[in-house]
Amino acid sequence: MKVKVDRDICIGVGNCVAFAPTVFKLDDENKAVVLDVASADEKTIMEAAESCPVSAIIIEDDNGNQLYP
Ligand code: SF4
Repeated sequence: MKVKVDRDICIGVGNCVAFAPTVFKLDDENKAVVLDVASADEKTIMEAAESCPVSAIIIEDDNGNQLYP
């Protein structure tokens, strides 16, 4: 699973951090960055992505196929 944050879209709400604090954190610009994708299970990461109000979290499988959004 690959996880990316579109920082142009991210508005720094922090829902993703609340769901998966080992995977996402807010940086100095109040935008989410991806930490360790392997530190949480896929369901948790998917829930974090679904919690983002602006769909800034992009999830792909290992072959690059987009799973979300
Ligand atoms: S939930 Fe979405 S908007 Fe909020 S910090 Fe995470 S990526 Fe950014």
